[in-house]
Amino acid sequence: MSIVNGTFSLTCNKCGKQHDFTADEADFDATSGSERQMGSENGYTWEHTFNCDECENEIEIEYEVWEYPVGAFNNDQVEIKGGTEVNRYGYDFHDAPEPDDI
Ligand SMILES: [Zn+2]
Repeated sequence: MSIVNGTFSLTCNKCGKQHDFTADEADFDATSGSERQMGSENGYTWEHTFNCDECENEIEIEYEVWEYPVGAFNNDQVEIKGGTEVNRYGYDFHDAPEPDDI
């Protein structure tokens, strides 16, 4: 079950190696939900830290996506420490997990 498709790619800031993450590798958690004018707004976050297999550089990804209204992509934000974003995922919210009640 995934809300993303395609590939997320970044390059290591230290050695320049490109790292690709397929949609299966991203584990988005429903992190926030709120009621707005057109219904629910849901937020999803994927946090992943790994070491570059080329130079051992630690790379930290914090990937946030918001769905609003339900079923529609609203916004996304990607922060990477130690790396540079190359390509983001595409989104598909039809299989989105139910957000926890907050
Ligand atoms: Zn590297």
